[in-house]
Amino acid sequence: MNVFSDIAFDDHEQVVFASDKTTGLKTIIAVHNTNLGPSLGGCRMWPYASEQDAIHDVLRLSRGMTYKSALANLPLGGGKSVIIGDPRSQKTPEFFRAMGRAVEQLGGRYIVAEDVGTSPEDMEHIASQTKHVGGINDGKDPERTGDPSPFTAYGVFIGLKEAVRFKHGSDDLTSMRVAVQGLGHVGYHLCRMLHAAGAKLIVADLNAASMKAAAMEFGATAVPVDKILSVDADILAPCALGGVINDKSIEELKVGVIAGAANNQLEDDRHGEMLREAGILYAPDYVINAGGVIEVYYCREGKTVAETNMHIEGIGETVREIFERAKQQNLSTGFVADRLAEERFGLKK
Ligand code: NAD
Repeated sequence: MNVFSDIAFDDHEQVVFASDKTTGLKTIIAVHNTNLGPSLGGCRMWPYASEQDAIHDVLRLSRGMTYKSALANLPLGGGKSVIIGDPRSQKTPEFFRAMGRAVEQLGGRYIVAEDVGTSPEDMEHIASQTKHVGGINDGKDPERTGDPSPFTAYGVFIGLKEAVRFKHGSDDLTSMRVAVQGLGHVGYHLCRMLHAAGAKLIVADLNAASMKAAAMEFGATAVPVDKILSVDADILAPCALGGVINDKSIEELKVGVIAGAANNQLEDDRHGEMLREAGILYAPDYVINAGGVIEVYYCREGKTVAETNMHIEGIGETVREIFERAKQQNLSTGFVADRLAEERFGLKK
């Protein structure tokens, strides 16, 4: 089992393995970097095929949070936790209370929130054991449910508009054709905002009911899932899976802008360079999908939804800086985003 030599290790400050015999909890908590503040990141529950897969995933995700929070101008570092287990069969309140005790032992160096396989309800059980938790529905504000997705969608919408402005000189989306891959928590909210802004939607999802709903509510044109990356459109918004921008899809793309919520859209860094060469403007995923982490932080700090949204709107300025630097230096936007993040969180190294 490799930790220090895993390719995603990247000088992690701390990696904690914790377990609870009674509930069967097995968790790994990774704290990548706390230069800017305590690390914050979701808790992913997944039936990993091996412990090595879980280690690699938590290191990769934790490092990603350092970059995301730095570019979101939050006083936070990067961390993440994974639970090795099946979210459909293993969850109990006591299971998450045990997780809460594991988080508590880090004394605030790591703040947990929900991720794939965990929910606001799970966070409430964690909160009975530690105050170092976010993404909870505290019932204080009807605009907040504990689900960060609407805020993520808003940040993606801001970033997408900024990309359109950079490309076309105006962020008017009227009649712009936007292909949205994935109509889940984020994708569907994004469609609502795009529709309200006058965009024409082309959508695909594995779930036929979501496509039908988008057709009814937004007049969206539904296409098969294997066609969405090659449709004739102005903008592509990947909101489903990672790795969708790869050697094959780049050959088929007909869009001028890519701006979506999905994490790790580029299969490899070199695909960012290929997009640049093809004249496709890519809004780096982790920069424009930071609305969720901003919401988790602001909610914890007791700030209003209006204050949260104002901070999220700052994503526009950050992504513009990235586009401008990338253009001036003939570099891919993904490369420039990473260097800008490192400038920010590296300052106190
Ligand atoms: P979700 O699971 O609610 O939605 C994903 C949707 O994609 C589902 O409706 C699913 O049916 C669909 N899908 C899966 N495979 C597909 C395919 N091949 N083609 C078309 N559709 C497909 O997830 P979500 O919360 O909406 O998140 C979407 C993406 O955004 C993920 O990559 C996630 O990591 C990322 N993200 C989400 C948040 C958040 O706040 N939820 C924050 C940051 C990043």
